Amino acid sequence: MTKSFQGIAASNGIAIAKAYLLVAPDLSFDVHSITDVEAEQARFDAALAASTADLEHIKAKASKNLGESEAQVFEAHLMVVADPEMSAAVKKRIVDESVNAEQALTEVTDAYTSMFEAMAGTNDYMKERAADIRDVTQRILSHLLGVNIPNPALIDEDVVLVTQDLTPSDTAQLDRQFVKGILSDLGGRTAHASIMARTLEIPAVVGTDVATSQVKDGDLVVLDGFTGHVEFNPDAQTLAAYQKKAEDFAAQKVEWAKLKTEHSVSADGKNFVVGANIGAPKDMEAVLDNGAEGVGLYRTEFLYMESDHMPTEDEQFEAYKAVLEKMVGKPVTVRTMDIGGDKHLSYWKLPEEENPFLGYRAIRISLDQDEIFRTQLRALIRASAFGNLWIMFPMVATITEFQQAKAIYEEERAKLADQGVPMGDIKLGIMIEIPAAAVMADQFAKEVDFFSIGTNDLIGYTMAADRGNDRVSYLYQPYNPAILRLINTVIQAAHVEGKFVAMCGEMAGDSIAIPLLVGMGLDEFSMSAPSILQTRSLIKKLETESLKHLVQKALALQTNDQVKELVEAELGDKINM
Ligand code: PEP
Ligand code: MG
Repeated sequence: MTKSFQGIAASNGIAIAKAYLLVAPDLSFDVHSITDVEAEQARFDAALAASTADLEHIKAKASKNLGESEAQVFEAHLMVVADPEMSAAVKKRIVDESVNAEQALTEVTDAYTSMFEAMAGTNDYMKERAADIRDVTQRILSHLLGVNIPNPALIDEDVVLVTQDLTPSDTAQLDRQFVKGILSDLGGRTAHASIMARTLEIPAVVGTDVATSQVKDGDLVVLDGFTGHVEFNPDAQTLAAYQKKAEDFAAQKVEWAKLKTEHSVSADGKNFVVGANIGAPKDMEAVLDNGAEGVGLYRTEFLYMESDHMPTEDEQFEAYKAVLEKMVGKPVTVRTMDIGGDKHLSYWKLPEEENPFLGYRAIRISLDQDEIFRTQLRALIRASAFGNLWIMFPMVATITEFQQAKAIYEEERAKLADQGVPMGDIKLGIMIEIPAAAVMADQFAKEVDFFSIGTNDLIGYTMAADRGNDRVSYLYQPYNPAILRLINTVIQAAHVEGKFVAMCGEMAGDSIAIPLLVGMGLDEFSMSAPSILQTRSLIKKLETESLKHLVQKALALQTNDQVKELVEAELGDKINM
C-alpha cells in the first residue's frame, strides 16, 4: 500500500529511487562471558579484516571523487585498524577476562581515547587521533554486530538519501550521478544544504519530521521537490503519475534551454541581469550551461570549508581568477568569507556560542582578525586583472563596519599598486541581509557602489525565524508585506543615488516574487544556476509598467498569503510555467 507524508519543497524535480538511510546505526551490545576463546579471537580478526576492506574501498572512492587530501582521513583509520598493539590488547582481554570481543574492543579503545584526550589540551593532532580511534571502533563493532554503517562515499546505484539532517559539507560530498533525491527530517528551504541541493540539481524535500522513522532502507521512494510531497512503495498508478510529471519537467527544461544565449529582457524592453550563485570554480560548468549573465554571488567560504587549512593567498587567487576568466568580462560578485552560523571550519574552531546566527560571523570576524581578511582581499585585488570583479561584504549592520572594511581594502590595494601589481577596476558593495542595513539603505547608498539583497538571512532576521528550523518555517514568509516593504525601500534608496541593486537570496528565483521585484525595479536576479533559464523565460513575458501597480497593491496588503493570491490572480498563466 502506498504511504505518504509531506515536507518542505527544497529543490525542484521528481526523484524515484530506492531509499538509502544515512542514519547512525544502533551499536549497543550485551556483555557476556565466553568459553571458546579462540573462536572469539577469530571473530575479532574477521571484523578487523572486513573493516580494512571497507576502509580501502572508501579511501579509493574518496580519492577519486573528492581528492587525495579528503582521502587522508581514511589512511589514518587504516593505520588504527592495522595497529598490532591494539589488536594484541583486545585479544589478551578476551583471554584474561573471558569477555566477548565487543566488550574487549570497547575497553581497549576507550583507554586509548581517554589517554589521547587527556594529552590533547589545545593540541588538535591529539584530538583528531582520539576521533579516529572512536570512528574505527564503531566500524569494527558494526562488523562484530553485523549491522551496516552507511557511508555516502560508497553509494554506487541510484538512491534517494534519507537522513535526519544534512550539513553543507555532507551535501558538498554527494555524487549526483547516484544520489537522485534528498529527503530529511529537519531543515528549511533556504538552509545551505537545500541551496546546494538546488545547485547540484538534486530534487529535495526537507523538514518532514518523519522521513527516517517511516522509510526503511530499500523502500521505493517517490519524492516531489516541487510540492514537498513524498510517497513510498507506491502503487503502479501513483508511480506512473510521477513518472509522467518527471517527463513533463524534462520536456520543459528542453524548452528553457533554448533561451540560453538570449538576454533577460521584459516584454516591454527593459533589460535585467540574471546571474548565478556559486560556491566554487567547479560550479562554473552549470553557470555557463545555463547562460548566466554574471555571477551574482560567489560564496567564498566554501573555499575555506572544503580545504584542510586556511587557503593561502595564491590558492585563493587561482580560484577567483578561474571564475573571472570563465565569465570573460561579465560581472563576478565575490563575497568575502561568511564563516559562522551553520558554516564551520574543521581546522579553525571558533568559540561555541548560544546564538551563532547572531554571533561572531562574516564581516565581524574579518574586521576582528584582519590578517585573514587582508589575505583574501589581496588575492581578490590581484585576480581583478582577469575580469570584471565586484567585491561585497556579508552581514554588514552599520555604516562604520563598511567604512572599516573599505579602509582595509584600500590599504591593501595601495600596497599592491606600489608593487606594480596589475589590477582592474573593482566595485565595492554590501549584502543587505540585516534589517538595520535595509532600514538605513538611503545612507549606505551614498557609501557603496552596489547592494545585493540577501533575502535568506533578511527574512530570517526580520521575522525572527531561523531559516533552517522547520518548526518555525510557517514564519519564513518571503511575500509578507513587511519583507516586501523592506526590499522596496532598499531598491528605491539605491536608485536615488544611481546605484545598482541585485538580489542573491533564494527569493530572486521565486516565480511569485519575480514579478514584484521586476515591478520594484531590481536590476539583477542571482540564483542557483538551474533556475536561471526558467527565470529568464518568466521575465520575457512580463510588462514592467503594469507591475508597478501590482507592487503598490501588494505593499498595501496584510499577509503573505494575500500577496501570493494577488500575484496568482493577476499573472497566473505566466507564473505557472
Ligand atoms: C542570503 O542570506 O540571502 C545569502 C544570499 O547569503 P547566504 O545564503 O550565504 O547566507
Ligand atoms: Mg546570508
